[in-house]
Amino acid sequence: MWTGGCLCGAIRYEVRGDPIYIGHCHCSRCRKSSGAAFLTAALFPKDSIEWTTQVPKLYPSSAGVDRGFCPNCGSSLTFQSPGRLLLLIGSLDRPENVDMSDPRRFEANHVFFSEKLPWIHLEDDLPRFDRFAT
Ligand SMILES: [Zn+2]
Ligand SMILES: [Zn+2]
Repeated sequence: MWTGGCLCGAIRYEVRGDPIYIGHCHCSRCRKSSGAAFLTAALFPKDSIEWTTQVPKLYPSSAGVDRGFCPNCGSSLTFQSPGRLLLLIGSLDRPENVDMSDPRRFEANHVFFSEKLPWIHLEDDLPRFDRFAT
C-alpha cells in the first residue's frame, strides 16, 4: 500500500495496488500549476485511492480536467478527468520506491515533450510524445 498527502498534512490518502501508468508532462499548464519544471503523475487502478482526511479542492484547469490541491498549504495533488485520477508522484510519501527500472511493470512516457524547458536534459529512454501519448 502507498500513502501520501500534502505538505501540511490536512489531506492524506492511501492507495492499494501499484501504478499502471506514469507520465511526465512538460506542458505549460502543468508547469504553472505545480510550480515545477515538469510534472510527474501516476495512474493507479480505478477506485484504489482512499482519502483518509478531507478531499482535495478542485480547480478546473481546462475542459474536462480538474487539478486537485490542498486549500490550506497549496500543494498540488491530483490531475483528474471523468473516471480517471492521477496522483502527482511527489505527493507520495515514498516516491523513490516506485520502480521505474522495469518498463514492463507499467507504461511510462513523456508527454508534451515539445514544450519541455530547453535546459532540462533527460537521459531515460522512455517514449517521448510531442503532445498526447498515442
Ligand atoms: Zn496541505
Ligand atoms: Zn501537462
